[in-house]
Amino acid sequence: MHFIEPHIHIASRTTDDIERMARAGCLAVAEPAFWMGYDRTCVGSFRDYFRQLTEWEPKRTANYGLRHYAWIGMNSKEAENISLAREVIAILPEFLDRPNVLGIGEIGLNKCTKNEVTILAELIELGMQRGEQLLFHTPHLEHKLWGTQIILDLLRAEPRVTPSRVWIDHCEEHTIRQVREGGYWAGLTLYPTTKATPDRAVDMIEVYGPERILVTSSADWGPSDPMAVTALMQAMRRRGHPESLIRQIVYENPLQFMSQSRHFTPPEMMSS
Ligand SMILES: [Zn+2]
Repeated sequence: MHFIEPHIHIASRTTDDIERMARAGCLAVAEPAFWMGYDRTCVGSFRDYFRQLTEWEPKRTANYGLRHYAWIGMNSKEAENISLAREVIAILPEFLDRPNVLGIGEIGLNKCTKNEVTILAELIELGMQRGEQLLFHTPHLEHKLWGTQIILDLLRAEPRVTPSRVWIDHCEEHTIRQVREGGYWAGLTLYPTTKATPDRAVDMIEVYGPERILVTSSADWGPSDPMAVTALMQAMRRRGHPESLIRQIVYENPLQFMSQSRHFTPPEMMSS
């Protein structure tokens, strides 16, 4: 079965991973800009990283028939440095216009500090001015519920937000309900140690239904599995879910969400 991986950090994966994903039926990936495992010291480092996501990685995946999309933004962890974050926000528009960019992301909160919230509000404002889709990272573990609530409060206070064009990622059992009730897309992350397992993700799909749910590996430079979406497919099959429902989760839902971006081309129309 074909699938789309809507959240993976290809820049930190090997070409072997890309080839394995292509062999398993992956047609397209989307790569949000995030923290690369170390704090960058100047805006030039971000500029080169955004070039990597819009120039180099699309070529690397195209060698295996995979279409590459990117999200461009200022991640929450480095947003604590407010002056650097503002320099980065100033260069975002030139990259948001590039042909593989779906919107602003992943933005959000890490430790939910005042500086993080300040920068997040400025990123949302930029998104509203430009009519961009938004992808939110929600914090880890003990900060998740609180951080998710702050993000939902910011979005509720902004009348220009169209909830169906917003994706709140890394939802878990205690945050998915609020996200879905707000009309947003809810992301479930399949990680070997934190976030959700394939079986917990299937539980949530069974409880809330398949609409507006995106399941991803969010694979990066840490413990993670770029093939995790195939483990979800297997877990759904094992429980007797029909192929049509599996296809909706791993292919049609990402297609529906990403198609709202002016830069997305549906796979049938992809040329290489
Ligand atoms: Zn990520």
